[in-house]
Amino acid sequence: MGSQLAAPATRGYFQVEQTMTTRLPTSFAGSLPKPQWLAQPETLWSPWKLEGGALTEGKRDALRVSLHDQLQAGIDIVSDGEQTRQHFVTTFIEQLGGVDFSKRKVMKIRNRYDASVPVVVDAVTYKKPVFASDAAFLRSQTTKPIKWALPGPMTMVDTLYDAHYKSREKLAWEFAVILNQEAKALEAAGVDIIQFDEPAFNVFFDEVNDWGVATLERAVQGLRCETAVHICYGYGIKANTDWKKTLGAQWRQYEAVFPKLQQSAIDMVSLECQNSKVPMELIALLRGKKVMVGAIDVANHTVETPQEVAATLEKALAFVDADKLYPCTNCGMAPLPRQVAFGKLKALCQGAALIRQGL
Ligand code: ZN
Repeated sequence: MGSQLAAPATRGYFQVEQTMTTRLPTSFAGSLPKPQWLAQPETLWSPWKLEGGALTEGKRDALRVSLHDQLQAGIDIVSDGEQTRQHFVTTFIEQLGGVDFSKRKVMKIRNRYDASVPVVVDAVTYKKPVFASDAAFLRSQTTKPIKWALPGPMTMVDTLYDAHYKSREKLAWEFAVILNQEAKALEAAGVDIIQFDEPAFNVFFDEVNDWGVATLERAVQGLRCETAVHICYGYGIKANTDWKKTLGAQWRQYEAVFPKLQQSAIDMVSLECQNSKVPMELIALLRGKKVMVGAIDVANHTVETPQEVAATLEKALAFVDADKLYPCTNCGMAPLPRQVAFGKLKALCQGAALIRQGL
């Protein structure tokens, strides 16, 4: 990665800047807060406040506002901030065939907390692209590289009650084929990085190694854009902070999954580091991959100083080459107050700038 501008690619009306033009390009894991006219602030998975055409327009306006904030903060790889979805898993599943949302079951998910989930009642099918038009809209609004998040196959399986396949693995393979079609539609819409969110990878280690990584590789088959997997310890909700208290002095969950990912076709891994008990040396298990280092804690309202961000990135640099380090947040920031989330994005960019100066 050099500081010189690479030849820009032409996409539609815009000259698209290439991902690799900036050293230590900044991005964030997924969601940002929604405006209060669209959804209840500081509430995870809050229902929409608008309906019909007003909702369609409202989501696009929110995307514009979110993009503006990202650019103001200095984010290099931008996204929709998940303004177009209510939930990072179910908003996608809602558009598939074979899943009944009127029949809900309460089930323990991530082996951690009870959730009311929809039921797989028949073979799951892909009807039409879910996010491609939103991605094309984002593409039309900016020349920055864009990243789009989708749920990973294992996390989808773990957010449903399966009354049809009765096999987590079998359902995951079906979802992988569907995700691959959606990913190809996103790529065609101009997405530069497709990220699969797999918080379930931090819980079900045997399954990750048996079929989790393999199904993820099926989901990225034939893609030319870059691919990432985000593995975190979740949003700063009580079920997650309580779980973290049981994980001991060192969180070594990544140790069980990184070796398999290092061997995989996935280009980038997004992980949690800030205020986390993950030993930084575990990053070395990903040697050769690009690493999105979480240098912003999403579980508190205290905005990091640029120096704190830089200190985390500096520690990570002992285990990942500078040209593969992507400063990022630990997870999504949807439940945070907007000003806090904006402050954290800004701190991330300023902290990355401090390290860039020293390189
Ligand atoms: Zn996350």
